[in-house]
Amino acid sequence: MTSATAPARDVLTRAEAEARAARVRNVSYDLHISMTRGAATYRGDVTAQFDVEPGDALFLDFRGKQIERLEVNGQPLTPDWNGVRLLLPGAALRPRTVVRVVYENAYDHTGDGLHQFIDPEDGQEYVYTNFEPFDAHRLFPCFDQPDLKATYALTVTAPAEWVVIGNSREVRATPEADGRLTRAFERTKPFSTYLFALVAGPYHVVRDAYRDIPLGLFCRNSLVKYFDADELFLLTKQGLAFYEDFFGYPYPFGKYDQVFVPEFNAGAMENVACVTYNERHIFRDPPTDNQRQNRAETLLHEMAHMWFGDLVTMRWWNDLWLNESFATYMAYLALVSATRFTRAWTDFNAGMKAWAYRQDQLVTTHPIAGPVEDTDQTFLNFDGITYGKGAAVLKQLAAAIGPEAFRAGMRRYFQRYAFGNATLAQFLDALQEGSGRDLHAWARLWLETPSLNTLSVDWQQENGRITRLRVLQTAPEEYPTLRPHHIEIALGREGPDGRVGVETLPADVDGPETDVPAAVGRPTPAFVFPNHNDLAYAKVSLDPASLAYVRDHLERIEDPLLRQLLWSALWDMVRDQQLKSTDFIALASDKVQYETDLELVEAIIARCQGALARYVPDDRRREMFHRFFTAAWQALRAAPPGDAQIIWARALIAAAQPGEDLDLVIALADGRESVPGLSVDQEMRWDIVAKCMAYAVPDARERLAAERQRDPSDRGQRAALRAEVSAPDPAVKAAAWERFHGEGYGSLYLTAAAMSGFHWYAQRDLLAPYVEAFFERVFGIFETRDKEFAQTYFNHLFPGYRVERPVLARSERLLAEVGERNTLLRRMLREANDDLLRAIRCREFAAS
Ligand SMILES: [Zn+2]
Repeated sequence: MTSATAPARDVLTRAEAEARAARVRNVSYDLHISMTRGAATYRGDVTAQFDVEPGDALFLDFRGKQIERLEVNGQPLTPDWNGVRLLLPGAALRPRTVVRVVYENAYDHTGDGLHQFIDPEDGQEYVYTNFEPFDAHRLFPCFDQPDLKATYALTVTAPAEWVVIGNSREVRATPEADGRLTRAFERTKPFSTYLFALVAGPYHVVRDAYRDIPLGLFCRNSLVKYFDADELFLLTKQGLAFYEDFFGYPYPFGKYDQVFVPEFNAGAMENVACVTYNERHIFRDPPTDNQRQNRAETLLHEMAHMWFGDLVTMRWWNDLWLNESFATYMAYLALVSATRFTRAWTDFNAGMKAWAYRQDQLVTTHPIAGPVEDTDQTFLNFDGITYGKGAAVLKQLAAAIGPEAFRAGMRRYFQRYAFGNATLAQFLDALQEGSGRDLHAWARLWLETPSLNTLSVDWQQENGRITRLRVLQTAPEEYPTLRPHHIEIALGREGPDGRVGVETLPADVDGPETDVPAAVGRPTPAFVFPNHNDLAYAKVSLDPASLAYVRDHLERIEDPLLRQLLWSALWDMVRDQQLKSTDFIALASDKVQYETDLELVEAIIARCQGALARYVPDDRRREMFHRFFTAAWQALRAAPPGDAQIIWARALIAAAQPGEDLDLVIALADGRESVPGLSVDQEMRWDIVAKCMAYAVPDARERLAAERQRDPSDRGQRAALRAEVSAPDPAVKAAAWERFHGEGYGSLYLTAAAMSGFHWYAQRDLLAPYVEAFFERVFGIFETRDKEFAQTYFNHLFPGYRVERPVLARSERLLAEVGERNTLLRRMLREANDDLLRAIRCREFAAS
């Protein structure tokens, strides 16, 4: 037996992957996993078979607890294993090599690998895998890279009352002497290791079918009362029909299961025929339609991956952006084409593009496409550029070549590379054939240069007519690329009824200045906006006359997408210190009362919350919070029951500061105050309790105990932890701090919940010692703990609530010390410092 003692750093480089792919072919795995209820470990027995060119030693990736037996081509060998790589000596290899490894492994509790969860409500045990990009080898020894596709024959021995879900259909179930059951699954089609899945436990199942494709939906027993399978099945069928037709390729994987799993780190994961979802997509409280649309987007995103990602897979992680951007773009196209969410492009702007713009203006911005040297770097790139900007430019690409050429290109691509791998160049070639355009030149300009351009309009008028109109384009000093943009310029004018309609002028912008002669002689507009219909990927800076009009009369504009784009432009001006955060909040508090588009209402609220948290000077903070709270209270009472009430009630609770505002929301929770039609849901109740604890409301502890009784679920457990750590008590903070660094709270999810209660702005005196403590300890955390833990630690404990120059200086000093020694910490520090500097400047500007 060989145990893993001090594992080496678990990373695979591009060069290593290339060398291995050049030698290895035709891989298959026969995997048996054995699980017992309530155990800390599970057992595995894998047989890998592959063709290999003889020569040097070859390695399998494997991170486990212990190897009990290793056989190579029938010969037992003593494992040469450093805890993450199992070396197969060159002399033992044959042209067709068979490797068998029998091993034991511990369950994971970080949401990756094979994650184990015990439901606090009923004691039931659930497990599931999550592997992207590089964690399949935490379940079994394998060649853990996307271009060594393999077939898998899985058998699982597990408690008889458990459901077991894999990537293919179950073909046999055999009882064991100990009462457990062994299920065998059909050998799969070839796919990459990161897409392998194993889910097991007493999951609740609902079944349906789409033509001859069996559909399954799964969730924990304690969530069945919230499970709305009908809407999920409807979307699933709409999506399958849309994609099969659009891609001209039938669904390739035989069955389609979707499983909602506990303590999931991301939104969802596109495992072959076994998609896993975060449980936030099961609504325990009444959701808004925006939440339903987001869930539908996620569902269609994962489904698009069944073709783009799973059937045809990137060769290496440098094309991850293409994988994610494509699925994101296709999900929105499917939403508007095949579901009831026909206005989803508005959400695309508010969500995806806003995320991309923000990320693209950070110091850590990067080209959409670029080299990825190892799997650690891949981990860093799941960001707004990968998902949002990539999708925005793909949307432009599809518009440029036309929908029919785009569709024909996609059909060629799937026919050509099915069950194989492809690169960006091969994707572009497939689209280019027949489109008559050189897409590689487009790729260089949009995919290989970072950052974004700003568009503004310079215009003059005389006697009620435009005399000249130019579109100006700028780029940041560090990234001076100017790009061609096909845009529509909106000339907004008030009609006799006071409503504002627009005249649009198309323009092809190129270079720093583009004259638009078509504008000359047009009647003078009230305002000009150079990105009507959101065609461009660019920031807009409003000219002074347009800004003045928009600030006064934004609510008069008819088109909701244009209103949204204008709100985004105003928000960009806040972030760029051209508009004071306090003015923005005042403006939003007034105007939002008139806003009828609920998606836009949510976007405005989110920006106000961002501004309140970090961009408002300390001495105006209370006043601005109260101003926004008052607007929310007014809007809540005016709102009809349903989504608008839910949105405003959440905003009201979030804005409540101690004193009469907090008293008001407590009264709402207690039923002493009420709004007809509104019920304060459980999530809202937990938010109120956390505030009661943080602000030491006299009966806070009794309230916490009452909510615990009301909600004994896993969510209640996390919310209670957060509330407890929120108490303004030095002993509570000290104990929590020790525990974050020590044994934690069980799973990473629970530890994160506790961390989320640690920082409160109002407790900054009490928390002062933890600023230095964070900077002293964070490097050690990143050097010794899992990436997932380190990232969670940073996100919750970096003292970003202190928008202060000394904190920034301390953080810059640490960044200098870290240097290149830890790339993940380096990237997180650079982004946090950049955000902090921006917040400091916004506060200074607002105070000026
Ligand atoms: Zn995805």
